Formats: sequence, structure tokens, C-alpha cells
Amino acid sequence: MRPVGILGGTFDPVHVGHLRAAIEIRDALDLAQVRLVPAHVPPHRPQPAASAAQRLAMLRLAVRGVAGLTVDDRELERAGPSYTVDTLTGLRAQLGRRPLCLLVGEDAFVGLTTWHRWQELFELAHLVVMQRPPVAAPIQELPPALARAVAGRWADSAQALAASPAGLVWRQALPPLDISATRVRAALRAGRSVRFLVTDSCLRYIRRHHLYTD
Ligand code: ATP
Repeated sequence: MRPVGILGGTFDPVHVGHLRAAIEIRDALDLAQVRLVPAHVPPHRPQPAASAAQRLAMLRLAVRGVAGLTVDDRELERAGPSYTVDTLTGLRAQLGRRPLCLLVGEDAFVGLTTWHRWQELFELAHLVVMQRPPVAAPIQELPPALARAVAGRWADSAQALAASPAGLVWRQALPPLDISATRVRAALRAGRSVRFLVTDSCLRYIRRHHLYTD
């Protein structure tokens, strides 16, 4: 069975770094689909500039017509905080033994031990670590608890991920796109162009709703 990929994030807003990463990984791993999952941000955390409904709307516009990319709004529908472990548990219940690949940027991966019940993530999904500029911390620099947890889990090939439901770790090289939502928001705030950093459909939405200009 072809694996399903999950890319979680704040998506404030979704940009072409997210979209290209999802497409590159869809193709490299022959995924059936990549689900983009916008996070509910709990009230005690720094709030995204756009509302949850706006972040979701921009994601839907961005993936429209893109084969294999879909938006999954389950974290926004839950009232409490979004824990990835809960999202994966819900997906696992729906998908049976189909391989599940959790896509995380290298920046997010090095902080994995701070995630709620992080050790359980390996029982629910494979982890696909996406390179993101500035270039990756080598494995020796991972926090010791994470290094121990991933030792022995490294997959020999991308194809190996299709052979089991969960438990492997794969590092996927991507053509680097040094784009972040922080940079997109800063450019908009400064009145600079963000064309070709976000989709035209998102840019129209941002303009229509006067987002990220303060
Ligand atoms: P912000 O600048 O607001 O922190 P962001 O651009 O990092 O946002 P997120 O929504 O936090 O976007 O990212 C979701 C996921 O996508 C994370 O795993 C992140 O590492 C990854 N990601 C974001 N931008 C890129 C990129 N340019 N290349 C590869 N992965 C990316």
C-alpha cells in the first residue's frame, strides 16, 4: 500500500517552501497523498497573525488542483491543543496498517523530544526528516535522547517505508528553498512583494482580507 504523508504546521501563511517540500516528498516516496494539517494554536502560545479559519482557507486555495495534496482540518476541529500523537492516532484508526509518514523539517526534528508523548510517534508513523536551509544538523548533534530513540531506525531506502506501517526514520534531501512564513509576513509588513513566495490564489486572499499588514 502506498504510504500517506502528513505535514503539520502553523501555515501562517502556507508558502511555496511547504508546497514544494510536499510535492518533492510525494514523488520521492511515491506517497498516495500528503495531508497538510494546520495546527490549532492554544491560547497561551503566541498567536498566529491570521485566524484558524483564514489559515485553513489559504491552505485550501494553495492545494486546489494539485494532485496528491489535500488539507486535513482535524486539529482545528478539536477544542484543545493539537498534539501530533493524537492526530496520528486518529489517522491510524482510519488507515489501518497503511504506512504513514510524518514529514518534519530538520528544525522541528531536533526539537522532537519536547513534543507531547514523543516516543509514541515512532509506533504510529515513519518520520521523514526534510532538509531545510540553513543546512542540517548532523546526527551527532541531535539531543542524546533523540539520538538514542532513532538509532537503529534509519531506513535503507525510501522504498523501505512502504513495507511497514511505522517505526522508521528517513532523511529526505530537498532542493533547498530558503522561505519561511516569518519572512513572508515580514515582507508583507514592510510593503515588499511576496509574489512567487506564496501562490497567486493565497496572495489574492491575503490582500482581500488585509492580512499581515498590522
Ligand atoms: P514560521 O516562519 O512562522 O515559523 P514556517 O515557514 O517554519 O513558519 P511552519 O508552518 O512552521 O512554517 O512549517 C510547517 C513544516 O514545514 C515544518 O516541519 C517546517 O520545518 C516545514 N517547512 C517550512 N518551510 C519549509 C521550507 N522552506 N523547506 C522545507 N520545509 C519547510
